[in-house]
Amino acid sequence: MYFQPKNLDEALEIKAKLGADGTLLAGGTDLVVGIRKGRTQVSNFIDLSKVAELGELQEQDGFLRIGAATVHRRLESCAHKALADAAATVGGPQIRNLGTVGGQIGTASPAGDVSVALIALNAEVELLSAARGSRRLPLADIFTGPGKTSIADDELIRAVWVPHGRRSEFYKIGKRDAVAISVVMAAASIGPSNDVAIGIGCVAPTPLRCRRAEDHINSHGLDGATINDAAQIVREDVSPIDDHRAGAAYRREMAGTLTKRLLWRLLHSKGG
Ligand SMILES: Cc1cc2nc3c(=O)[nH]c(=O)nc-3n(C[C@H](O)[C@H](O)[C@H](O)COP(=O)(O)OP(=O)(O)OC[C@H]3O[C@@H](n4cnc5c(N)ncnc54)[C@H](O)[C@@H]3O)c2cc1C
Repeated sequence: MYFQPKNLDEALEIKAKLGADGTLLAGGTDLVVGIRKGRTQVSNFIDLSKVAELGELQEQDGFLRIGAATVHRRLESCAHKALADAAATVGGPQIRNLGTVGGQIGTASPAGDVSVALIALNAEVELLSAARGSRRLPLADIFTGPGKTSIADDELIRAVWVPHGRRSEFYKIGKRDAVAISVVMAAASIGPSNDVAIGIGCVAPTPLRCRRAEDHINSHGLDGATINDAAQIVREDVSPIDDHRAGAAYRREMAGTLTKRLLWRLLHSKGG
């Protein structure tokens, strides 16, 4: 069956009723590909396109609050450099006009460019259910495996909260410059108290937050020596696979190289 709720309350009610049998449909750029390839079976669609609340993009309490149905195109000009750069690399213009932030998180691909940028920005995800209301948790914590999240069957992603005040950088290696799924990509940010956060994609079953490398820098300071150490820690902590896009050894090496490159940029860059 096909449902088209007209507001958030209706969407939550339908999701609560259908649970795992209700599949949320945003831009459809992942879902429809999955259905066509036979990877995804859908009994009931819950089309979110009429739920205006999910498209809100606003400043709130020191955060950029990005409604789940915000399309990548709208983020290309946002103030967070890593996020803007990541959004600008997603597919081509048609995909960026359809694909949403909530859909990207829902897909839980280790190659999600925007997910990795958000992780490195210390973003939180806001989940909402009719029964329990809303809860917020660090974005990195909801990814549990390729295509898997800890989002409950009656929940949907309401928004993503990105704290202001962090300088950030993003870098993507793909097979070509446009319309290319990442081979490896990374993002890093530094906060007002010089704390660093690092996210890497395509090197583990989920978009990866590199906590051990972050902890090393955050306890020893950001300089040439700790940057080299962090790159080595990242090489040790990733678990890439060989596939048609690249070999595991190349991905491991590039994860370290990108970490180094982004941290040097943060060390040298001024302003936001
Ligand atoms: C040709 C092509 C090129 C692409 N290139 C890139 C690329 O370069 N980089 C990249 O990162 N991605 C790329 N993608 C992937 C894709 O565009 C993104 O992941 C997109 O953001 C998915 O969003 P959507 O709105 O289309 O999601 P949908 O396909 O509508 O949904 C995806 C999943 O998320 C769930 N979902 C949707 N909304 C919510 C919600 N509010 N709460 C909970 N779950 C939800 C759905 O149920 C579904 O499981 C590409 C896709 C295509 C087809």
